[in-house]
Amino acid sequence: MPLVTQATPAFRYKPSETIDGLLQVCISYAPFGIYWKPDKSQEEEPRTQCPYCSFQLSETELVCPECKNNLPYCIITGRHISREDITTCPKCEFPAILSEFLKLLESEEVCPMCSEKIDSQNLEKAKDLERILHPEEGADE
Ligand SMILES: [Zn+2]
Ligand SMILES: [Zn+2]
Repeated sequence: MPLVTQATPAFRYKPSETIDGLLQVCISYAPFGIYWKPDKSQEEEPRTQCPYCSFQLSETELVCPECKNNLPYCIITGRHISREDITTCPKCEFPAILSEFLKLLESEEVCPMCSEKIDSQNLEKAKDLERILHPEEGADE
């Protein structure tokens, strides 16, 4: 038997061998896929406290899964506020994360919400957090 006639069928079956080979690669990589997970701590968003119930939720979450409150969000970052480090725009009174607002004012001078010129001297820690958290209550008193 000449070598050529053997080589030809072998060559013709090559495509399926290639698929088998690919499958083999997939199978051998499968455990890798199952066990290898990206480092969650790097991937997950930082968690901050719900200002209503102190539940830890990701900082871009705007509805607390625990107390179901709609959370007021920072006009600078769009992240929900927590009970700390909160200010309100002196002009439009929308809540913002104080440190983020101060950071913004280093490069821009206006509030992103009302476009009014804001002096960082006028930004102070929100005194009345309850009014931010419950704007509908006492609004008409
Ligand atoms: Zn909550
Ligand atoms: Zn404003």
